[in-house]
Amino acid sequence: DWIELLAEQQRETREHKDEPFVVCTDVHKSYGPNHVLRGIDMTVKRGEVVTIMGPSGSGKSTLLRMVNHLEAIDDGEITVDGKYVGYEVVKGKLKPSRDLSRARAEARIGMVFQHFNLFHHFSALENVVEAPIRVYGVSKQQAHEAARRLLIGVGLGGHLDHLPHRLSGGQQQRVAISRALAISPKLMLFDEPTSALDPELVSEVLSVIRRLAEAGMTLIVVTHEVRFAKEVADRVIFMDEGRIVEEGPPAQVLGNPKEARTRRFLQLVE
Ligand code: ADP
Ligand code: MG
Repeated sequence: DWIELLAEQQRETREHKDEPFVVCTDVHKSYGPNHVLRGIDMTVKRGEVVTIMGPSGSGKSTLLRMVNHLEAIDDGEITVDGKYVGYEVVKGKLKPSRDLSRARAEARIGMVFQHFNLFHHFSALENVVEAPIRVYGVSKQQAHEAARRLLIGVGLGGHLDHLPHRLSGGQQQRVAISRALAISPKLMLFDEPTSALDPELVSEVLSVIRRLAEAGMTLIVVTHEVRFAKEVADRVIFMDEGRIVEEGPPAQVLGNPKEARTRRFLQLVE
């Protein structure tokens, strides 16, 4: 079934488990005078599940966008699977890619946003087949077959032809996850995937993410769901004001934080 297929796709990840996969070195990013990322050093290993927490405005979304090269960084380095996403080697020198969308496609990074960002005039199924057909040149028939399998896998077999506005937030987010998975990603980035959901819909989305973790995928999840992080994450990173102020196993960072800032923040979200 669906999850076995995903697990099968993670063979490369399993064979190279724990090798560095996402490597950020002294990453800086400013928007005008606003120095948003102030020297981020972060390594995520293959098959690792990392959750990032921190107050609003601390740079979590910006960091995810930089990993996926939705925007360029100002200083430092980011490699994913050993490659500089968004750059190509020309005559031995690193140059910005001329074809950014192709560079992103080759990186095979799936991203899921807080507000789902579905195509509103497309059905659930059409949302999921779009990238495989248009970006990856998968045949229509194959893309539809795979999309159907993915949507059935996340419990949406009865909603394939529904437009997003007919779905609940939790269902829309599960479509968005299926859409991200349809490109067979090597890395999944989640940016507060449940914070726009009504409380009773949170667990249906978290349980899908949990299954991805169990399938061995490499995941970076920005979330304030402390219980989810304790149960699923290998490591928790706490950010504040553009820096990583604390990181470690969930039991340590969430159960016994060293930093006063982390303690204050956890009191607010728990
Ligand atoms: P978080 O996700 O932790 O809440 P963000 O990464 O969204 O934080 O934002 C960090 C800071 O960067 C905020 O001060 C925000 O206003 C600013 N910022 C984020 N994106 C942009 C942008 N595209 N243009 C200008 N400022 C931005
Ligand atoms: Mg954010």
